[in-house]
Amino acid sequence: MTNDLSYDLLVKGGQVIDPYQGIDAFLDVAIRDGKIETVSPNIVDNTASQIVDASGLIVTPGLIDLHTHAYWGASLYGVEPDSSHISKGVTTVLDTGSSGADTFPAFRKYVIERSNTRILALLNISSMGMVVGYGGLEDPRWANINKAVQVGKKNSDVVVGIKARIPPMAANDYRAIVSRAITAADELNGFFMLHLGGTSLSVSERLDLLRSGDVVTHAFRLSDNGQGILDDNQQVLDAAWAAKKRGVIFDIGHGSGSFSFETAKNAISQGFTPDTISSDLHFKNIDGPVYDLVTTLSKFLHMGLPLSKVIRMATSTPAKSLGYEGILGTLRPGAVADLALLQTVAGNFDLSDSGGRQIVSATQLLKPITTIKGGQLYNSFTNRAD
Ligand SMILES: [Zn+2]
Repeated sequence: MTNDLSYDLLVKGGQVIDPYQGIDAFLDVAIRDGKIETVSPNIVDNTASQIVDASGLIVTPGLIDLHTHAYWGASLYGVEPDSSHISKGVTTVLDTGSSGADTFPAFRKYVIERSNTRILALLNISSMGMVVGYGGLEDPRWANINKAVQVGKKNSDVVVGIKARIPPMAANDYRAIVSRAITAADELNGFFMLHLGGTSLSVSERLDLLRSGDVVTHAFRLSDNGQGILDDNQQVLDAAWAAKKRGVIFDIGHGSGSFSFETAKNAISQGFTPDTISSDLHFKNIDGPVYDLVTTLSKFLHMGLPLSKVIRMATSTPAKSLGYEGILGTLRPGAVADLALLQTVAGNFDLSDSGGRQIVSATQLLKPITTIKGGQLYNSFTNRAD
């Protein structure tokens, strides 16, 4: 029993927000062997090997980004994962279809296994993945169930489901491609993520294809030309309410063209909140308007969502989608010791939605200070100019 008070790392004096446990209080977090040992007030600190002073900071579970593109150098969209994610409070990301069955092995060997950021993946139903554009899905022969299932099963520690991003020119094959993606996701006991992009099917018809646990990303895009979750009178579609009710996850996936303040404000005012807030960080938006996940979270604080709710949308809810409920995205004793130490900075900050359609003046911004993953410390920085 002599080691009972010996911790590897102690994070002291921060405002701990762990929505999974309903915690929002000034507490210390003790870490041992890469796991959370305890979260309690005034832990005696003379036995810990390393102490991090978190006074003035918010301490949350390591953030989880449910929509990213981390296949740097092979997929046109890929950004370098560590400078984009773990350096900014994000300990776990889901790469959404940058690789397909033919291109996943190199993604695993040269990116996933060499990154400090924990990277899980949705295989693209296109076996080439999003090397460029839509990954060849203009031709549905790229949507190969057998290949996806074979590679997904072989890499079940990383692959959690299937993504499809179907180009408008494949409108006639839309249902067939989604059906193949769902079949493959089921074979892998994973989920299917639908990119809410243009097609001849109505949004309601597309949402009706999704089951409990499936994710619709870009869900709060501009609802123009019948392409979003709002109807012409700016009311949330019945099909969206029905999908939410049966357990479909509505994800932000901000990106360079897929998040609208107007849609979000309208939907939230009707009680239709997102389930998860993700960045869709890629090469076209990393220098704005997305920058990183914390800036995306700050946009929802500006819209009036409480901090604990926003943190839940980027911790325990995405953890559950990924099959890591209670293991990631929480500071519960025994959980993986992933933490984000964030600062709330006051001032005037211009924040833009996709395409710069609307720029709001926010009075507070979340800023990453330090990240801890599996009990290891990483310093944070931001490339946002402010
Ligand atoms: Zn994306």
